[in-house]
Amino acid sequence: MERIETDVVVIGAGAAGLTAATELKAAGKRVVVLEARDRVGGRLWNGDFDGHLLEIGGQWVSPDQDALIETLAELGLETYSRYREGENVYIAEDGERRLFEGEIFPVPAKTEGEILGLIEKLDALVAEIDPEAPWAHPRAKELDEISFAEWLGTQTDDEEAKLNIGMFIAGAMLTKPTHAFSALQALLMAASAGSFSHLVDADFILDQRVVGGLQQVPLRLAERLGDDVVKLEQPVRTIRWSPEDPAAGVTVITDSLEVAAERVILALAPILYTRISYDPPLPRRQHQLHQHLSMGFVIKVHAVYETPFWREQGLSGTAFSPYELCHEAYDNTNHGDTRGTLVGFVSDEEADGVFSLTAEERQARILESLSHYYGEQAKNPVLYYESDWGSEEWTRGAYAASFDMGGLARYGADLREPVGPISFACSDMAGKGYQHVDGAIRMGRLAAANILEG
Ligand code: FAD
Repeated sequence: MERIETDVVVIGAGAAGLTAATELKAAGKRVVVLEARDRVGGRLWNGDFDGHLLEIGGQWVSPDQDALIETLAELGLETYSRYREGENVYIAEDGERRLFEGEIFPVPAKTEGEILGLIEKLDALVAEIDPEAPWAHPRAKELDEISFAEWLGTQTDDEEAKLNIGMFIAGAMLTKPTHAFSALQALLMAASAGSFSHLVDADFILDQRVVGGLQQVPLRLAERLGDDVVKLEQPVRTIRWSPEDPAAGVTVITDSLEVAAERVILALAPILYTRISYDPPLPRRQHQLHQHLSMGFVIKVHAVYETPFWREQGLSGTAFSPYELCHEAYDNTNHGDTRGTLVGFVSDEEADGVFSLTAEERQARILESLSHYYGEQAKNPVLYYESDWGSEEWTRGAYAASFDMGGLARYGADLREPVGPISFACSDMAGKGYQHVDGAIRMGRLAAANILEG
């Protein structure tokens, strides 16, 4: 087994790990990054389909994400706006297709009033939440003991209003059903983006994309760090250290490498911490808290057509319905492309349902749903692809991890706490930018800064 000595080992070459490594190297530290996969980027992945780019993982940038925006500028990456000219589509419970402009769905006046009232209430509550410490809210425990579904039920009995407000946080963000996460977890999700209103505003939350794909960020960071720093196909199996002699540092072991260092940063999704053996074992608190986090689950569906035909019908491509298999869909045409691409999302229990079908049946069901928004032409893409992160051994879901009921108030404060020489960094423990690339960069910077401060 080859043995390497360094100052800091970073486990995981996603946005968080590569940011941490970049900061540490810039401060003069020797760094080694160990990545399980044969590529960098983690949940950022540019798929090449016969020369056609599909962003299999994360892609959008919103204007509040300053850590990501700074990184894009620093790496010389350009952005472009998501296409949004024309009318949006909403499908009602009875299947009626309604066109609308702006953010508020074309629902009956009473439901619209309920939706606006809920947005106002949620904005007021979110303004009280510090995304870096939601557990510090005076009612944190109480809000963490009630599911978001139950909380919505205490506010209104309008089913369509509940479904739509639920969708912004559940299907569209945490990708778990509203009964599976707490009101506090929902408030953190909104606070991490600045307000609940921001989540409702697709033009804000899904504003820009990166020319050439968002995976350019980790690709360029890794290129700058170099092959002698970033080592691919090195799944970490064991971390060893001595609590009696912390100065002795830490040893990180893969199948073919043993890396000795002073400190280690775990920059992987927290649900994967248990894939690594720790000697000595992690403390009781970490053993417990890691069991209270789980990944959401969503299928990102890509359908490419010879032209963006919906634009000719005056449609923006933006489409929503809490009653549809694809609860949201957008024009996802690449920069400068003559072809048109639609992206749709099938979340949590709906995703379970279609994964019980054959691939052909699933595709037919999903394209049928897209056709409800865009018409029959949507059924005949020239290229069709489903991003299935649930099958990825080194991710196991999408978009990210969140706490179960009661977990955030009980364990949230400990998630980022280092254990001996072991620090943690991932988008899934961010405050601002939580579950997003911006949060991954913030957490990478924070872990590096803490190590540099000693
Ligand atoms: P990861 O990207 O998960 O990186 C962790 C790395 O650790 C991986 O490379 C993994 O292979 C590696 N690893 C795991 N275990 C080991 C081990 N034992 N040894 C060595 N290496 C290991 N965010 C946005 O900002 N905008 C979006 O539009 C957006 N859309 C998304 C769409 C999808 C379908 C998905 C899946 C995510 C999306 N996200 C989006 C979320 C965003 O991609 C993630 O929050 C972010 O990329 C996570 O970065 P990370 O570095 O924290 O973790």
